[in-house]
Amino acid sequence: PTPPQTHGPARIVAMVNQKGGVGKTTTTINLGAALAEVGQRVLLVDFDPQGALSVGLGIDPRPLEATVYDLLMEEPDVTLEDVLLDTTVDGMQLLPSNIFLSGAEIRLVNEVAREYALQRVLEPLLPHYDICLIDCQPSLGLLTVNALTCAHSVIIPLECEFFALRGVALLMESITKVQERLNKSLEIDGLLATMYDPRTLHAREVLQTIMQGFGDKVFHTVINRTVRFPDATLAGEPITQFDPASMGATAYRELARELLARWPARV
Ligand code: ADP
Ligand code: MG
Repeated sequence: PTPPQTHGPARIVAMVNQKGGVGKTTTTINLGAALAEVGQRVLLVDFDPQGALSVGLGIDPRPLEATVYDLLMEEPDVTLEDVLLDTTVDGMQLLPSNIFLSGAEIRLVNEVAREYALQRVLEPLLPHYDICLIDCQPSLGLLTVNALTCAHSVIIPLECEFFALRGVALLMESITKVQERLNKSLEIDGLLATMYDPRTLHAREVLQTIMQGFGDKVFHTVINRTVRFPDATLAGEPITQFDPASMGATAYRELARELLARWPARV
């Protein structure tokens, strides 16, 4: 017999790379959807003032009156329920953000325990989910440090392009600093090669360089470059729904399996 399905406490995973356009948001949406497909309860956190995660899920964040910002700032009349939204994916919910979040960094600077603001927000939610994915903004500022401080692990998407590894050393340094000062148990789940075009020698060379540099820290799953991803974003759907049989959908399902196999089992 199989044991009864239990949920939580959620594993928190931060999607980080201070470079923009490397596939953080796309990976958050599609990995989340692939995990939900196999029965995981997923919470997505939009932690980028651009709000691209919300947009990619078909939600225009601009007019929202209650967002992650209010939770971070402990606005007394905004509750978690006010902010939390359902998505088109069963078992996957979203804490949305919009441009207001850009003010949070400045306001948090003078707070006590300013690195722990997001942890405070997420704490009461953790028993209700299996996995929480945080889509970080392209910066190593205080918001990203907040995500690293509350996360169990990080995923680092790398675009298979010429300057893929530029900045990765700095990112690794930031992760080490957070491990030393704020979150000893933070792990690196892996580096994810994205936007890979197997037809070009250039992309193959970049992938090889990534593998030489980081060995078994690189996921076996590689995400190919395909216009289906921007198409799905425009449609406001994960690719697993927009084009369920596509290579892109298959790749994110494979990544979900790879991660579930790597993570310590929960009983
Ligand atoms: P980030 O969040 O790191 O800034 P995004 O996930 O928003 O990056 O991706 C940047 C752009 O590239 C988006 O327009 C997205 O649709 C597109 N994109 C992401 N992954 C792929 C891919 N594998 N193939 C083609 N386009 C992609
Ligand atoms: Mg993004």
